[in-house]
Amino acid sequence: MRFVVTGAAGFLGSHLVERLLADGHEVVGVDNLLTGRWENLAPVWRNPRFTFVEHDVTRPLVVEGRVDGVLHFASPASPADYLALPIQTLKVGSLGTHNALGLARAKRARFLLASTSEVYGDPEVHPQPETYWGHVNPVGPRGVYDEAKRFAEAMTMAYHRAHGLETRIARIFNTYGPRMRPDDGRVVSNFLVQALRGQPLTVHGDGTQTRSFCYVDDLIEGVVRLFHSDYVGPVNLGNPEECRILELAELVQEVTGARVPLEHRPLPEDDPKVRRPDISLARRVLGWSPRVPLREGLARTADYFRSILHEITEEADGRSGRR
Ligand code: NAD
Ligand code: UDP
Repeated sequence: MRFVVTGAAGFLGSHLVERLLADGHEVVGVDNLLTGRWENLAPVWRNPRFTFVEHDVTRPLVVEGRVDGVLHFASPASPADYLALPIQTLKVGSLGTHNALGLARAKRARFLLASTSEVYGDPEVHPQPETYWGHVNPVGPRGVYDEAKRFAEAMTMAYHRAHGLETRIARIFNTYGPRMRPDDGRVVSNFLVQALRGQPLTVHGDGTQTRSFCYVDDLIEGVVRLFHSDYVGPVNLGNPEECRILELAELVQEVTGARVPLEHRPLPEDDPKVRRPDISLARRVLGWSPRVPLREGLARTADYFRSILHEITEEADGRSGRR
């Protein structure tokens, strides 16, 4: 099959590209490098079945030749990124999704949207099943991401209903692993990089808020299964192993062996207090559930950050750019 992956140079997009190539497919990666990195594509750069197009998907998206699947992953995803890039985030979720859907329609290809647990906002139902409509503040700072993704889901369903397009929606919960940017701002990369540098771990608020962290390989397996499934409605993909941010800090100290203190910072506005996927649907329709325990995934991710430690050190010294 021939796939188009938007956001191909990002954390998840690059793992997805690698997986699709390993499965024997052709892949056209599209990215404007807003929050992604060239280095993420180093393992596939010389693969003759991979081509890269540097392009902003908020502009019309044209790909020559046959396309069987469009997987739309382009969007800033870390809160630090989307708070710094609010208009780009709204545009890629709305115009970018429209363009990616238009490409899928023109090619009669199947479309998969990378949506998010953030469509549930600061949830009042716990854990979150797909039937929950969410609790989002549209005018708060996080609204730029949450509402863009909610719009993207609505647009995807409209293309399915109005044009008969084959569509899939993955509601992805917090995912971590190698190739997260060291300065990405998400909690797993922040804590691991801080621990490896011997710096205090920055805990927002009292650290009793919870998240449920999924290792990247598990997530990609779920995405591939969802794409090939017959299920049209949104499907939660994440690890239901829930932990408090304070527990995550302890685990990071254990796996890195770093004896670093905690430094409490103010809790950001509208920061969800709890988050945990109900993955009954994914278990039933995809036969999927995550396999990598948090401790093991953190150890693998720590190895990755150790391997790029020189880069981390340069960033700490202010000798390199933002990415
Ligand atoms: P990322 O920031 O590493 O990757 C996003 C990629 O999209 C980057 O390479 C960026 O340059 C690219 N991009 C952004 N705007 C673009 C545009 N206008 N045109 C072309 N490319 C553009 O983030 P990620 O963690 O890999 O997330 C990928 C997708 O998965 C996003 O859609 C995100 O919302 C979704 N998601 C991720 C998580 C997670 O925990 N990682 C959770 C929920 C949803
Ligand atoms: N967080 C933290 N310290 C950090 C970064 C994040 O305590 O250095 C908290 C953040 O406030 C949130 C949780 O960790 O409660 C997860 O944050 P992240 O940015 O990874 O993703 P989110 O789930 O909020 O989108």
